[in-house]
Amino acid sequence: MPLGRYSRRHRRTFGDKKPKQEIFLEHHRTPPKPDYYYVKKKGQCRYCGDVIKNKKGLVNKRSSWHPDCIDEYMMIYHPSETRKRIWNRDGGICANCGELQPRKSRQHDLKWHVDHIKPLWEQKGKKFDEIDLSYWEEENLQTLCTKCHSDKTSKESTERANIRRDERDNMNLMDKYVWDWTIGKLINGLVEVCLIK
Ligand SMILES: [Zn+2]
Ligand SMILES: [Zn+2]
Repeated sequence: MPLGRYSRRHRRTFGDKKPKQEIFLEHHRTPPKPDYYYVKKKGQCRYCGDVIKNKKGLVNKRSSWHPDCIDEYMMIYHPSETRKRIWNRDGGICANCGELQPRKSRQHDLKWHVDHIKPLWEQKGKKFDEIDLSYWEEENLQTLCTKCHSDKTSKESTERANIRRDERDNMNLMDKYVWDWTIGKLINGLVEVCLIK
């Protein structure tokens, strides 16, 4: 099917504008998209930016994705696709307590979670080229029931608070050191000035 310039599919494929804010913020569950994503050029992969070739080794002007790249892209940027794949892999078994979760439920406390084993907040505040995409890969994802997920989250936020506290303490120590050093220099300077006179 040709992609009409004003069709919905065209808009979905090429309509996205690059956001001004490129930094991965706390409330984002997905990383910023690569620059190639916004390059609207057929034959160039929107995920890795490399040329797409056909079987004859020529540029494939009809394609915008490498098959592997679209796979990876969907896993990272489309949560419903992620849930589907993780469900198929884990069969709805919570990785922590082993209880079977209902695939779909309207009840909030029965919703299973796609959990990031290495937590996403470690990637907070980074730009696309600084981000470790392995955080969104299948190996880093697991099925957790609501209870196990909230237990893990609260444990992590305690750890995080501890890290922040240590950082603050270190900063204070650093400030004190810089302050002492400055005072020391000043006194030495004064002593020298006095000696010259
Ligand atoms: Zn690619
Ligand atoms: Zn569980």
